[in-house]
Amino acid sequence: MEMNVTHHKLIIIGTGPAGYTAAIYASRANLAPLVFEGAQPGGQLTITTEVENYPGFREGIMGPALMEEMRTQAERFGTVIKAETVVRADLAATPKRLATDQGEYTCDALVIATGASAKWMGIEKDEELSRSGGGVSACATCDGFFFRGKEIAVVGGGDTALEEAIFLTKFASKVTLVHRRDKLRASKAMQERVFRNEKIVLKWNAAVEDILTRDQALPTGETVRKISSLKLKDTVTGGNEELPVEGLFVAIGHQPNTALFKDQLPMTEAGYLEVEAGSSRTPVAGVFACGDVQDHVYRQAITAAGSGCMAAIDAERWLAEQGLGD
Ligand code: NDP
Repeated sequence: MEMNVTHHKLIIIGTGPAGYTAAIYASRANLAPLVFEGAQPGGQLTITTEVENYPGFREGIMGPALMEEMRTQAERFGTVIKAETVVRADLAATPKRLATDQGEYTCDALVIATGASAKWMGIEKDEELSRSGGGVSACATCDGFFFRGKEIAVVGGGDTALEEAIFLTKFASKVTLVHRRDKLRASKAMQERVFRNEKIVLKWNAAVEDILTRDQALPTGETVRKISSLKLKDTVTGGNEELPVEGLFVAIGHQPNTALFKDQLPMTEAGYLEVEAGSSRTPVAGVFACGDVQDHVYRQAITAAGSGCMAAIDAERWLAEQGLGD
């Protein structure tokens, strides 16, 4: 059994800007890192279109292209990237142990760059309909185009929801913003833009209780289940109402991908990993965290990349201190 376990000095989990940047720095420092790319190779930027605020690209760059650049740059210095997802971690062991969907590994140092994922409402069907092309999405820039001239809804009251609602008015004939309270969480500036937009209608104190669907026949003879309306519940009166829509965008925040480390690393109430201020160090020696998995404040590609660099440098120094550097 032990024979099949491969040992690496440094393993990096995740392939967003944080993971790739950590890999670029670590491979240039001759640490020969092994990277697991996980379930969403390239991370959240692969589901965006144009990135206009990443320094160095004055004309902007497409999210997937930016991630491909980072990947190739990491590979150029010898990073090995495996299309495997880590399913178990034992950080208390020496060396640290990881199991993926395909094998077992050990490492001296570990960089966690598992990022965050869009939250779903947890009602039956929202995530399922998003996977099956049923008209539910968590990414307006990816899917807005499909709703040209249609009536749609956005759920959430934060900056993301409002930004998505505004963006979607480029395509949709009407956007209903469904929010569970009577006050928006988003910044005042964003709220004003929404209030001014004639295509956006606010539905206050409303929770989505169910997504109603209809079967639509495809030219191939198959049928696909499409969203037809939302069953809303008034959060004050408890009354129900139906809102006919052909699309639903869920923008209720993000969930850090930290389930693997439950009971092994300290986390905030929202599940983000805690690191020592001004560093990437977690309280477990040799375990470092970078990117959105430890940052609910900035959540930008450039800040994730910067913290990935910090994690690689912290890991390199820690390995050297342990006499494991060369
Ligand atoms: P937020 O956590 O700020 O907002 C989430 C929203 O979703 C809240 O209004 C919340 O309601 C609602 N919500 C949460 N869970 C549910 C649920 N189960 N059902 C219904 N509604 C729910 O997340 P965002 O993604 O909007 O923003 C994250 C961070 O990124 C923020 O700091 C934001 O300012 C920033 N950001 C900035 C942008 C910009 O400046 N251009 C653009 C996008 C994000 P409630 O208010 O009742 O809690």
